[in-house]
Order: sequence, then structure tokens, then C-alpha cells
Amino acid sequence: MADQRATRAIVDLDAFQSNVRRVLASLRPGCRLMAVVKANAYGHGAAMIARSAVQAGAAQLAVATVAEGLRLRTVGIEVPILVLSPIDFPEIGSALRGGLSLTVADDPVMDRVEAEACRLRLPGPAPVHVKIDTGMRRYGAMPEAAIALAVRVAASPELALEGVFTHFAAADEIEEGFTSEQATRFDRSVEELAARGIRPPQLHAANSAATLRSRRYDYDLVRVGIALYGLPPSPDIPLLSGMRPVLSVRSRVARIIDLAPGDTVGYGRTYRAEMFEQAALVPLGYADGYPRSLSGLGWVALGGRPAPVRGRISMDQTVIGVPAGVQVQPGHEVVVVGEAAGAPGLVDLAGMVGTIPYEMATGIAPRVPRHYVRASEVVAVEDLSGLHEADAGLFAAGSDPSQDM
Ligand SMILES: *Cc1c(COP(=O)(O)O)cnc(C)c1O
Repeated sequence: MADQRATRAIVDLDAFQSNVRRVLASLRPGCRLMAVVKANAYGHGAAMIARSAVQAGAAQLAVATVAEGLRLRTVGIEVPILVLSPIDFPEIGSALRGGLSLTVADDPVMDRVEAEACRLRLPGPAPVHVKIDTGMRRYGAMPEAAIALAVRVAASPELALEGVFTHFAAADEIEEGFTSEQATRFDRSVEELAARGIRPPQLHAANSAATLRSRRYDYDLVRVGIALYGLPPSPDIPLLSGMRPVLSVRSRVARIIDLAPGDTVGYGRTYRAEMFEQAALVPLGYADGYPRSLSGLGWVALGGRPAPVRGRISMDQTVIGVPAGVQVQPGHEVVVVGEAAGAPGLVDLAGMVGTIPYEMATGIAPRVPRHYVRASEVVAVEDLSGLHEADAGLFAAGSDPSQDM
């Protein structure tokens, strides 16, 4: 296997599938799960996560872009895949050929989808979801326009109205009033469609936060992203019992640095040693997704103890202080992200730098190889050269799965 980089993200597929099953078990009977795997499955790696989601019972998947959806087709995903974000005209043909379902919220896009569907002579009508803006004011048609669009799709031989949906603006806040109001507006639109004889097969509204908080928002399916990765949508909306983080980040000490009093560490010399002390170099930097704003602030776990970041985090390297009493050698394991191993979790790190776990997770760079673990065995590695699966015999001798645990 090509990449033996010390810095890697460990993705626990058992934890992920257990989270999927936990969410599925909480839903109203008959309500299905659309696993949201946009942005490379929130940084976890879309190919393995998508397969694991389907295997654990997700009926459908959602992505943000056409390229994300087409990538899933190339790795053998056959379930329906909905593109949630606005689609660009030039992408419509390839999206339809790839069997992706498209979100439509205005007539010009609908015209184009219809024309492309006709031109391509697809085996069946092009699957479309109409998005209603019930208060997010981002992407979606206002209720009356959405109803007109849905009527139009239902009447077109080139198009199939697969679903009608909306998206909540504040489901992750304690105050539920606006979410409930959005749901009421959605219900009203659904009733108006029914009055015109249209019942879209799939009505959906809930994201993770709405799914975690109430059965009121289930409809025919729920679109769950962040919670499946074991990360709460906000501090106010906890996960269900038993759900746990899926991803951790580990590295290895590259070199020991002996500091004398007065020595300074790194760019800008922001850390100055007061006495003789040991530091260690970790081959991980902001270009890997370890934010520079953690300089002088973050910490990792080394030998089971907290080890502070010393000085500035650079693009590819970070220096940490070796905790008193810890004996380190080059090659020593460093846990950068992972509560279970005594390091900060993505939620903690997000709090330290003033962002949200979504941004921390999606910020883990593609150059950090993802090691997929099942029952304590590495079953696949995805790196810049692609996806390598253990059962395809692609693991080179010398890769030692035990070092991931
Ligand atoms: C990203 C997204 C979701 C999933 O949101 P989470 O908070 O991660 O569960 C659901 N619906 C839409 C339209 C989205 O863009």
C-alpha cells in the first residue's frame, strides 16, 4: 500500500454502523434514513462510509455536488443518491446519466433538467425533489412557487416527482418554535399538493438535530449527517445514548527536540523555554486540518498524558511539549484527536478555535490517509492514490493494523 504516513485518521466503521442503527431504531416505523455523506462524508471518506451506511440500513444517500454523487456510483453504490445543493447547468447531463436525483427549486433549472432528460433518452423519467423554502432563505422555492413546480414535475413525462422537502434553520437550538413553524408551513404545502391530487412518494424535512429531538419531523425519511459520525449537531442537542465518535487522528513522534533555557520554538518564536525541557516534533500541520489557531492552545495525548502544542503550528509540522515523566522515542504514538484515548475530540477542538465540529471534521485534508477499522482490523485505507482494500490483497507486507488501535 502506497501511503505509510505516520499521520492518519482512524475511522471506526463499527462505531459508524452502530450510530446508523441507533438512529434507525429511533425513527417512527416506516420512516427511512437518508445518510448525508456530502463533503467526503464529513471528512470521514465517502466511499467506505457510504457502503457502510447502506449495509447498516440507510435506504438512500445525500451529497452536495454532482461530482460527489458520481464518485459514489464509481465505487458501486446503487441506492438513490440525492444532490442537495443547487446544480449547475453543465452538470445536469452527467448527473442524470449517473442516476442521481436532483433538487430543483426554480423553473429555469427544471426546464433544463427536462430538456436534458428528453435529449438523453433515459430509461425512465429523471428523479426530482422539489425543495420548499419554509424559512431558511437559502436554497428552495417559496411555498406557492414550489407547489407550481411540483405540479409541473408530476405532469411531465420526462420527470418523476420523487420527493418534496424542506430544511430547518434552527433545529439545533433549544427553542423549538421556529422549527415547529417551518414544519407547519411544510405541512400546509403538502396539503395543497394533496388538494391537487399529488402525494410525492417522499416527504422529508429533518436533519440530525430535528431527528434527535422529536418524531414530529420524521415524515417519510430523515436526512441525517453529523449525528451518524458520532458528533452532536450543537451543544444543546445531545446524541442518543450509545452513539460515539467515529473518527480519531493519530500520528507518531518524528524527532525529539531538547530545549535549553532561552530557546524558542518555531515561526515567530512565540514559545520560549524557561528551563531544560523536551519537546517532540509531530508531522502534522494546518495543511492537514489541524488549525493554526490552536498554536499555543491545543494539546495532544502522548503516553496517555496531555502534551501541549509549543509555539506556532506550521503547515506540515507541530511541536509539542513532552509531559514530565513521559519517556518518548521517535515513532512514539501521538493521539491528536480522540476522547477515548485521552486526547481532545473534534467537539473540544471546535470549541477551542471557535468553530463547529462540522468544520473541524470536513477540514481534515485529503492528504491525511483514512484507515478504516472493523473489529480492530484495518480493512481499507484511502489516501491520495485511491481506496485500497485489505481483501483485495492490496496491503503491502509491513503494514501493521495493530498500530492503529
Ligand atoms: C447537510 C444537510 C443535512 C444534514 O445536516 P446534519 O446537521 O449534518 O444532519 C440535511 N439536509 C440538508 C439539505 C443538508 O444540506
